[in-house]
Amino acid sequence: MSEQPLPVIGITTYSRNEAGEFYLPGPYIDAVQLAGGIPILLPPNQPAPDQLLAIVDGLIFSGGGDIDPALYGGEHHPTIYLVDAERDTFELALAKAAIDSHIPVLGICRGMQILSVASGAELITHVPDVYGETIHHRLDHPRRPIGHAVQVSPTSRLATMLGESEIAVVSWHHQAIKTVPDGWTVTAQAADGLIEALEYRQHPWLFAVQWHPELSPDDPVHQRLFQALVAAASRGRLERRDRAIASTRSAGSGL
Ligand code: MN
Repeated sequence: MSEQPLPVIGITTYSRNEAGEFYLPGPYIDAVQLAGGIPILLPPNQPAPDQLLAIVDGLIFSGGGDIDPALYGGEHHPTIYLVDAERDTFELALAKAAIDSHIPVLGICRGMQILSVASGAELITHVPDVYGETIHHRLDHPRRPIGHAVQVSPTSRLATMLGESEIAVVSWHHQAIKTVPDGWTVTAQAADGLIEALEYRQHPWLFAVQWHPELSPDDPVHQRLFQALVAAASRGRLERRDRAIASTRSAGSGL
């Protein structure tokens, strides 16, 4: 038996599609496994999201379609796509519970937006309306990812984690953060000013990025995010195990 417990990383998924399948792009699973974690998928059709925190050591809020603007007081926009009420409801509840917990949390793309909306943020419903098109944050026809540069605040924990402050990212998002909730800090921006990373300082390990680190599997800078998540989750698992052993011993000795 290995001494170091492998941490379980829950990853949110898309809802059931027309073929009856739940869906998550494979690179999320690859990234967690490569970092030494055990990925488990958390589909949205679950009645008690907060109870999931008891079975995972870390969480990834994954990418996906747009969040319903009604959930953050936003206006509808004709370009809004893939709105999924079941997924929005589930992930917002899970995000609120995760933010209140000590479990390490990584938000990716839509995941960053969900965590922000759960904390009271508003979103930009259509990025080009606000930031123009000097930088493309996705390609539209057909929709696919595109690369752009991101400037990470050199003094941020994120820069320390990544080991660099000027990075190239894979970007594939339609919406973006409009208002930063209390207690959250912007730690990276694109050259057009768009918010590319946030962290929540009142949580021991909660980072969120607007880009897709899982789509850069060969870039060690991006893999460090998953390694840091798995390391934090592993420490938490070890601490909980040690506390459980200590309480069993003290119960057994009659103290
Ligand atoms: Mn971007």
